[in-house]
Amino acid sequence: MSYFSYKNGVLHAENVALSAIAQQFGSPTYVYSKAALVEHFSAYHDTCKLHGRDDTGAMICYSVKSNSNLAVLQLLNQLGSGFDIVSGGELLRVIAAGGDPRKVIFSGVGKSRDEMRLALSHDIFCFNVESIPELHRLNEVAGAMGKRAAISLRVNPNVDAKTHPYISTGLKENKFGVAYDEALACYRTAASLPHIEVVGIDCHIGSQLLDDAPLLEALDKVIELIDQLHSEGIQLHHLDIGGGIGITYDDEKPVAITDYLGRLFARVDAWRQQKYQGAPIKVMFEPGRSIVGNAGILLTEVQYLKHSAAKNFAVVDAAMNDLMRPAMYEAWHGVQAVLQRPTASQTYDVVGPVCESGDWLARSRSLAIEQGDLLAIMSAGAYGMTMASNYNTRGRAAEVMVDGDQAHLIRKRENPGDLFALESTLA
Ligand SMILES: *Cc1c(COP(=O)(O)O)cnc(C)c1O
Repeated sequence: MSYFSYKNGVLHAENVALSAIAQQFGSPTYVYSKAALVEHFSAYHDTCKLHGRDDTGAMICYSVKSNSNLAVLQLLNQLGSGFDIVSGGELLRVIAAGGDPRKVIFSGVGKSRDEMRLALSHDIFCFNVESIPELHRLNEVAGAMGKRAAISLRVNPNVDAKTHPYISTGLKENKFGVAYDEALACYRTAASLPHIEVVGIDCHIGSQLLDDAPLLEALDKVIELIDQLHSEGIQLHHLDIGGGIGITYDDEKPVAITDYLGRLFARVDAWRQQKYQGAPIKVMFEPGRSIVGNAGILLTEVQYLKHSAAKNFAVVDAAMNDLMRPAMYEAWHGVQAVLQRPTASQTYDVVGPVCESGDWLARSRSLAIEQGDLLAIMSAGAYGMTMASNYNTRGRAAEVMVDGDQAHLIRKRENPGDLFALESTLA
């Protein structure tokens, strides 16, 4: 269900009017619904339980890069989530939010020595290694610390996720992971290194997938590799199928999490029964967008309505630096007026104040609005705030989490002064 709905003609987040949030915290402001986050995480967690997998049989590692606010991480940690990180900074966030590093997996193609040391010192669950040189570096760093690094190899199953080229990651021309045909050789190398402990296999084929067929195809390829490794005496303890399930931005109909997980577990169970006398294997997921995407909106105020012969513009106080997805991927986000007006609507491009023609948030939208009205840019919970920048020396937006009839400030608005505090003029 949606936790953003109209009550008495005013758009609410749960039981709080977005107009009240703008009044109290200003705009632009990201607003998240706690109940939505709980519901989306529970879809994964409860389905795992339904298929007989407790926390040792399955692990949901929320993808921190989709929304890394401490309050979001804290909530997901309380619900039992692990975390998928792509930098040392994200590990520090998880720890600051109370998360357990032993439920952290570390993905990414460019891990530095410092990041490896940090992660090893906190005994993370495992590194998702993406190349042979990374394997050698990790072996060396772990050795110098007198440790063994648990690893899984990110394999590239070469399946077409049929999504936007910028968010497709599982084809052989992508920079991610180890090519499928080279995976066996990489595992043999990994198994021979003294400070590496091979524990799993992972893949992540792309984002905003509406259908689970490519994921099940990737699963089959991963299963094939696990069997080949088994016959060579390399035993894996987990398989990690990545994240990638899409959400509804407009009229997309993504597969239900329960259906996807049901099909996935059925295949895994049949395979384990057939080949390993039912011996279980831990199954892991790395969802991001499907947990936070539709749990958040970006609240913004109309500064000016600008009418020209060719177009009408609603110039708002949020911009591409706050929500980069439209400029970066031509992504479509719904736009809803917070106050429902009975007046006739007009067609507007919703644009920000930044000095770039790419600075638009939505195009050709029918809206009944006046100057000073508030708009909600919908489905902005994932890859919104985490991709925000300070371009044009604009402080990043505030963030608010709504819980029932309470609104909690979970990130203060940045002041321009904060933005150049680390800079210095020449002596
Ligand atoms: C970004 C990312 C995810 C999360 O993807 P979603 O589409 O948001 O679910 C998971 N795993 C890895 C390795 C990623 O880079």
